[in-house]
This record gives sequence, C-alpha cells and structure tokens, in this order.
Amino acid sequence: MKKTVLVTGGAGYIGSHMVKLLLEKGHRVVVFDNLSRGFADAVLCPDLVVGDLLNPAAINDVFSRFQVDVVMHFAALAYVGESMQHPREYYYNNVAGSMNLLNAMLDHGIDKFVFSSTCATYGVPEKMPITEAEAQRPINPYGQSKLMVERILADYAQAYGMNSIALRYFNAAGCDPDGRLGERHDPETHLIPLVLEEAQRVIQGGNPAATGLEVFGTDFDTADGSCVRDYIHVTDLCAAHLAAMDRLLDTPETGAEAYNLGNGNGFSVLDVIDVCRRVTGVGINYRASARRPGDPAVLIGSADKALDILGWEPRYTDLEEIVASAWLWMNGVSAQQEKAEELLA
Ligand code: UDP
Repeated sequence: MKKTVLVTGGAGYIGSHMVKLLLEKGHRVVVFDNLSRGFADAVLCPDLVVGDLLNPAAINDVFSRFQVDVVMHFAALAYVGESMQHPREYYYNNVAGSMNLLNAMLDHGIDKFVFSSTCATYGVPEKMPITEAEAQRPINPYGQSKLMVERILADYAQAYGMNSIALRYFNAAGCDPDGRLGERHDPETHLIPLVLEEAQRVIQGGNPAATGLEVFGTDFDTADGSCVRDYIHVTDLCAAHLAAMDRLLDTPETGAEAYNLGNGNGFSVLDVIDVCRRVTGVGINYRASARRPGDPAVLIGSADKALDILGWEPRYTDLEEIVASAWLWMNGVSAQQEKAEELLA
C-alpha cells in the first residue's frame, strides 16, 4: 500500500538513491535535508524541505504538514577521519539531531523508524565476519555517535513503543545503475570515487607518475598490508531499507532491531585499485601513506540475519560490477559537464 515516507538526508548519496526507489515503488516521499553535504538536484521527489534537524521547530513543522507513516533517517555527518578531528560536530549533529527527530516523532504519534547505522559501531571486532552479536566498541566519534542513537532507540522502544530497525552498513559503494544518481561528496574522501577520479585524471592527459591517490596504511596485519573492507552496492542498501519498512509495517511491536548489511567479502585497498584498473583500463598509480586515525584493519560483515529475517539478498556481489556502476555515472557526469561548457563557450 502507498505510504508517506520522510527521508532525512534525501539529498545525500544513499538517501537520494532511496528516494528514487521509494518513488519507483509508488510511495509518497518527503525529503528533509539541510543541504550541507547533499545536492538539491539529486532529490527526485517534489517535496524537498530544506531545514536542519538541530532546529526542533523545523522538523516538528514537517510532521504537522505531512501525514508521515515511516521515517528513514540518513541525515548525518559520516566521515571517520573528520570525526576524529571534529568530534564536537559529530556528536552534536548525529546525536542531538537524531533526538530532535525522534522526539518530534513521539509528539506526532509516529512510531516507525529506519536508521542508517554503521559497521563502525563494532570498532575492532574479535570475530570475522562480524555478526550482530559482536560487542559494539567504536574507535572513532562517528561510530560512537551512531551507537548512541542505537542505544536511544532501544530505550525509546521500551519506554514509548518506538519501533525501529537500525541498518549497520559496511562500505556503501557504486551508483544508480540507470546512471541518474551517483556518489557525490564535497570534499570526496571515499576510496572508490577517489581511485576513479585518478583514472579520469590520467585519461585527461595527467601524468600517471604524479598521482594524488594515497593508500592510508600499508603495514596492517592483512595479506597485502592495506585495510580490508566489505563493499556493498547502494541499490542493495536501499532494497534493505524497503524490506525494513515492510517489516515495521507488517509486524506490530517490532521493538528496536539491528541488522548488518554487507556482502561478506573482504577487499583490500590494493584489491580495489586493481579492480578499478581493470574496469577503467587505466594504469592507476598510488602513494603509500600513513594510516588514517580511526581505521580498523579489517571489517567484513555477515548479513545472515538480514537474509533470514528481512528476506534481503544483495544483487551486486561482484566488486567489478559495483565499480563499473560508479564509473558509468562519473563518465556520464563529465560528459554532461563538457557539453555544458561547450554550450557556454
Ligand atoms: N582509503 C585510502 N585512501 C583514500 C581513501 C580511503 O587508502 O584516499 C582507505 C581507508 O583508509 C579505508 C578504506 O580505504 O581503509 C575505505 O575508506 P572509505 O573512506 O572509502 O570508507 P570508510 O571505511 O571510512 O567508511
């Protein structure tokens, strides 16, 4: 049945892909975003409310204007490295912002919440692949801020009957296979887009030896010394949100649940660079740099619980396919930019 879904952070990378999927499924979507990191032109639904979760009146007003059935909360600061330098911003935005949202939901009798959490809540796990039973001991403020919200959700379930599903993403990657939406961050800090930008630079005539691409840490306790991560396609993440929403709608008193979303395969930073070389056909070079503070050596997820209970299954299990979708989008965008520049010239 058609529902009204509030998507906070719907102008961002994952949120904008979610809006597209919800529209394709026939739902009504309202986006609430402060556009600090997102892009208004990535919002494919007509209802975009520009506002800040740190302003309780702004979010309360949205619930007064729209009959919202389910909230999907993507809006957050989400860079591990930045969170080590600016914990103040991270705790304030991610924790206080989420509390304002949840409290406004309570005030308006809305009890269905899907939360973007992260594998960074596990810190340095003892067992691999990581299951939901693993202890959550984050090693950076980003992970801490997300864990704090998970704890709030558990207490709000018990005291107020708030039903929530926290989805702990591993490394979100790739772009809308239609090429309409992509991964746009300003500044870009994520590995796959940075490697692909390096390939683009070389294609545009840049000197391959003068690479700006850095590999953060080549002395980890891994097969090739670089960090290992589990990359999951953004479309698969969105499909899991849809399954989570269905579960909240179909199961009364869900309480506070959490699920890992990953592919269960680990790729090192050097593996990723190799895959990008194959996809782009460019001999990408890199520089070995110091470790980035806050980075655990290996993060690989077990998504068995999501497979079992949400009935979710990732479609993009091949890293080459994930990288190819990002490359397709990047080239589409640069082609469009070139066309615009030609027109202006
Ligand atoms: N990384 C890197 N060089 C970069 C960006 C990232 O070596 O320019 C590494 C980073 O240290 C981590 C992995 O690539 O081990 C994935 O980082 P990303 O920022 O994409 O995602 P995160 O794991 O922080 O969510």
